[in-house]
Amino acid sequence: MRKKSLIFVMLIFSIVALFSGCSNKKQVSDGKINVMVSFNPLKDFTEAIGGEKVNVESLVPGTSEPHDFEPKTKDFAKLTEADIFIYSGLGLEDWIEDVKNNIGDSKVKLVEATEGINVLKTDGATDPHAWLSLVDAQKICENIKNSLQDKDPKNKEYYETRYKEYKNSLQKLYDDNTKRFKDLKNRDFITSHEAFGYLCRDFNLQQRSLENLFGEGENTPQKLAEIVTYAKANKINTIFMENSGSEKDAETISRESGSKIQKIYTLETREDNLNYLDAMKENLDRIYNSLSSIN
Ligand SMILES: [Zn+2]
Repeated sequence: MRKKSLIFVMLIFSIVALFSGCSNKKQVSDGKINVMVSFNPLKDFTEAIGGEKVNVESLVPGTSEPHDFEPKTKDFAKLTEADIFIYSGLGLEDWIEDVKNNIGDSKVKLVEATEGINVLKTDGATDPHAWLSLVDAQKICENIKNSLQDKDPKNKEYYETRYKEYKNSLQKLYDDNTKRFKDLKNRDFITSHEAFGYLCRDFNLQQRSLENLFGEGENTPQKLAEIVTYAKANKINTIFMENSGSEKDAETISRESGSKIQKIYTLETREDNLNYLDAMKENLDRIYNSLSSIN
């Protein structure tokens, strides 16, 4: 069934391509590598490294978040048009097997961006949010860089230079924050979605969350009460709230514990038009300012 509809979509695709020959040809002849990435931060990384040599598109639309995404037939068809498909891995794209089964013998090369990183486990589950570590993000960028060099060896140096520059920016943000986080007395904070395990590992912090690793979880009155107790015990003054978190629950905790609610970026979607480095800087500033203001 699925195969049939895929063939049908590809047929439509060919007809459309035939009638829009000009624009299609342009894409082929502009000499750029067509990269499809699974979601937002990988788009940022690939554009930073690939510069003017790549066209980058995200499979998960900019406004959706990857935990709830499911690819449709048109997505598989788009994928077969790309030169490279870069996905995060670690179970974030729980539909990756579907992709592997649906792209047939097309030329698209699949790249797992988190290959070789230091994987974090929480209560036995693999935490997929590796991009929120400034250290692991460097390894992710290295994997992306290698895939571009493999596909386009004549521009090897171009990618190498841009990768090194970007890696240095990530390292600098890491170094600056390591220095100031080192002497903090209070290291516990509350988030709505348990996405910041890797960031916590980078700076020796501790997160407590309303929702689990996968953005799911029902907050029973008992669980909310526990978090309020925890907030009071740790003198927590801020509840960090991600885009899709439960506002009602965060408000309950905020009211009961006397803390304020502040936005934090998981980067799973593009928000406030911030790129990866700027959003991470905001995250770290906000967490630092909250923790350093606790007496
Ligand atoms: Zn998440």
